[in-house]
Amino acid sequence: MLIFKLLYPKLYVSSLFDIDIQNLYQTGIRGILFDLDNTIIPRTADVFSAEVSSWLKEIRGSNFKACIISNNNSKRVSKLAGELDLPAVCYAVKPRRKPFRQALELLGTCPEQTAVVGDQVFTDILGGNRLGMFTILVTPMDGKEFWATRLISRQLEKLVLNLFKKQSIYTGCRQK
Ligand SMILES: [Mg+2]
Repeated sequence: MLIFKLLYPKLYVSSLFDIDIQNLYQTGIRGILFDLDNTIIPRTADVFSAEVSSWLKEIRGSNFKACIISNNNSKRVSKLAGELDLPAVCYAVKPRRKPFRQALELLGTCPEQTAVVGDQVFTDILGGNRLGMFTILVTPMDGKEFWATRLISRQLEKLVLNLFKKQSIYTGCRQK
């Protein structure tokens, strides 16, 4: 069914650091869009961990263009993006396509050359898949979630991920 294809990440990893950056580059990916909250920083934190900061620097040093795409407000997003010296799209209302297109414009890459890294199926993965990008789902970081995410989105995600497991296509997309 088309809807499940759109919800299905191309890759599912338990941590950012499990993403094989060299492999991404070899497959032609040149741009990476990062969700912010609970993907590269816990939603309740105000500073990046040293590990994440240096990992993101390493990515940029490996000739990737990177951008933050977040549904959060401009104050938080621009402050944190500024710390990493990354462009950002805030108030994104993912999974709408418009913010993803804006991010692509900022990077100057086309969808086929671009990966989306995020912790939520119904915003990050669905939005990225709608434009034909390479979508990577990461296990959410340990940050308190927005109440609607916790109550609604995560429950639906569980259903979808269980379905993938049953169809045994899920295991095929896990990196480890
Ligand atoms: Mg998130």
